[in-house]
Amino acid sequence: WSSETVAVVTGANRGIGFEIARQLADHGLTVILTARDTSVGLEAAKVLQEGGLNVDVHQLDVLDPSSIKEFCDWIQEKYGFIDILVNNAGVNYNLGSDNSVEFAKQVITTNYYGTKNMITAMIPLMRPSTAGGRIVNVSSRLGRANGRRNRIEDSTLREQLGDLDTLSEELIDRTLSTFLQQVEDGTWKSGGWPQRFTDYSMSKLAVNAYTRLMAKELSNRPEGQKIYMNCFCPGWVKTAMTGWAGNISAESAADTAVWLALLPDQAISGKFFAERREISF
Ligand code: NDP
Repeated sequence: WSSETVAVVTGANRGIGFEIARQLADHGLTVILTARDTSVGLEAAKVLQEGGLNVDVHQLDVLDPSSIKEFCDWIQEKYGFIDILVNNAGVNYNLGSDNSVEFAKQVITTNYYGTKNMITAMIPLMRPSTAGGRIVNVSSRLGRANGRRNRIEDSTLREQLGDLDTLSEELIDRTLSTFLQQVEDGTWKSGGWPQRFTDYSMSKLAVNAYTRLMAKELSNRPEGQKIYMNCFCPGWVKTAMTGWAGNISAESAADTAVWLALLPDQAISGKFFAERREISF
């Protein structure tokens, strides 16, 4: 990795994303810090640039097709390619023991569809190389399909989502739309969905499933055009998202993302990690 290596981080103006950007730049990479609010992005990038880091900045709202398009055009024009994409942008409106689904649509849309939008848009811009492109998705243990404490009750659906032979984009999208339909109908409480942070858990369950699915698809690319994709749980982190109630700093939380982005072992793809260790989906 060198200053020629270009990494894009979404939602990098604060929290874990900002730390991922800082640490990747600390490794000597060129990092493109993206933020949905231009002026906030510029402020954040300035902090890193003043520290001597090679950080560029661009507006990017992962839910706005015209913002994504403009970003892609800019990348193409200025850099030609990227090597690393970290999908960090996310939202959560539940704090403590609350379990409101008031913002379910926004949570699912941002965390899952936003991630998917970026993967779809960035794959054609991944630099062909023997090292392979890297995509890291920031997820959560709350989205574990088979987690003992917070899982979908329907064991058949769980198995389908957990088995790469039955897993499909259509199944993920259909599961989310069933959930969102029940939110709209007011019937979601008896729908057998995860009990804690229900909408958020569903969004990250979808991110996890999509990571496995896409990693498998990407493994079919020819040599020299490979892309390796993994996801990870940063733990419970002191950021705005948790009302600064977590038990680890954003700096520590960023570590596994950076490790995954720079991993020399190309055999690792389609896996879920926490604290640099593989965990089950
Ligand atoms: P923060 O709320 O501090 O940061 C979230 C970032 O995402 C902000 O930069 C925010 O931008 C950005 N964002 C939200 N929506 C969009 C959008 N539509 N387009 C572009 N950017 C957007 O949270 P964290 O740093 O804690 O969270 C980062 C990631 O880590 C998330 O994916 C989260 O789900 C995940 N995570 C966090 C945990 C924790 O304990 N904190 C635990 C497990 C996972 P803006 O500033 O404009 O709002």
